[in-house]
Amino acid sequence: MSDALPVAEAALGYVCAISPYVTGKPIEAVAREFGLTDIIKLASNENPLGASPKAQAALRELPALHLYPDGGGFALKQAIAERFAVPPEGIVLGNGSNDLLELAARAYLSPGTNAVFSAHAFAVYALATQAVGAAAKVVPALPPDHPQMPYGADLPAMQAAIDEHTRVVFLANPNNPTGTWVDAPALEAFVAAVPSRVLIVLDEAYSEYVPPEWFADGRFPDGLALAKRYPNILLTRTFSKIYGLAALRVGFGLAHPSVAAILERVRQPFNVNALAQHAAVAALADEAFIERSRAVNDAGLQDLQAACATRGWSVIPSRANFVTVHLGVPAGRVFDALLREGVIIRPLGGQLDTGGLSCFVRITVGTAAQNARVIAALDRVLPALKAAP
Ligand SMILES: *Cc1c(COP(=O)(O)O)cnc(C)c1O
Repeated sequence: MSDALPVAEAALGYVCAISPYVTGKPIEAVAREFGLTDIIKLASNENPLGASPKAQAALRELPALHLYPDGGGFALKQAIAERFAVPPEGIVLGNGSNDLLELAARAYLSPGTNAVFSAHAFAVYALATQAVGAAAKVVPALPPDHPQMPYGADLPAMQAAIDEHTRVVFLANPNNPTGTWVDAPALEAFVAAVPSRVLIVLDEAYSEYVPPEWFADGRFPDGLALAKRYPNILLTRTFSKIYGLAALRVGFGLAHPSVAAILERVRQPFNVNALAQHAAVAALADEAFIERSRAVNDAGLQDLQAACATRGWSVIPSRANFVTVHLGVPAGRVFDALLREGVIIRPLGGQLDTGGLSCFVRITVGTAAQNARVIAALDRVLPALKAAP
């Protein structure tokens, strides 16, 4: 930004202070920069099996491109309402679930208010908070030597951080970039203790990857059931992860109808495009694909965790579709070295680091072949990186 340009200087100070979100490096960019052709991307937690086949089939019949989409998202809301047994009035559609996070910030936060979230939380919480001039109260996470959940969210500490100016609490379960999660009793106690005027944004971008039996025995909370009981919960879900529709940008929020009506006031009239709505309806019904994706992820997660353990690399507990692993070398150097191997991962540190994770990288669980390839590539590059000063 040019210092001298009056129109740039006139922008809001808290907006100028934002560091823009850094996305996973695209395959095409690595192809261009390194002249490589055989590249895998395990950087953005996308589904290695691709998009739901039912969604792909639906897109062979494109909706009319010259007409605006259904701004009310009738068909998609209907499908979501049936699938989750919620009223359509309690559903808000978003241009990715990212959109929902911003809508919550816009409706609830302003200068003089604050949002509470954990250290190592999803980077967008800080961005959405900053963009509306509110303060972020970042609560220290559980310590690295915590016996159950190193780097996990410390819910009692988050509860204690809530003050009279707090309007929103952001919590991802499982969390990105750590993979950590909170269990049912802990979340229940937290939700019950949060003042009813504070909006709890419960971000379940990865919850479809949690084994179904974990919900039954309380190892993982049923966020949907909680959202039905507590009107101050906004539950967010996405089609970008297990459904494999990241390119289309579609997600949704489930909330009490009176909260949904608030968020509806601040969204764009046509925030979810017609192709995305059309494909999402089909993807939601593709149970077989979801099950296959979950099974491939389960196996891959175990394989990656085992490969790391064998090599003495410590991994943060994960119940998502990625592992976050400590390699003892600054993450940016590992990232650069792997690019030359045609493997794109995500270095922590910088924006993806609210403290203490700069030697960690996040690796998305891929297919068995992709998982083997990233481990083999790490085996090749790490000795030289560790030897270099
Ligand atoms: C990927 C992700 C999202 C979803 O982003 P979309 O905008 O729906 O693509 C939301 N929250 C977390 C924690 C994520 O990792």
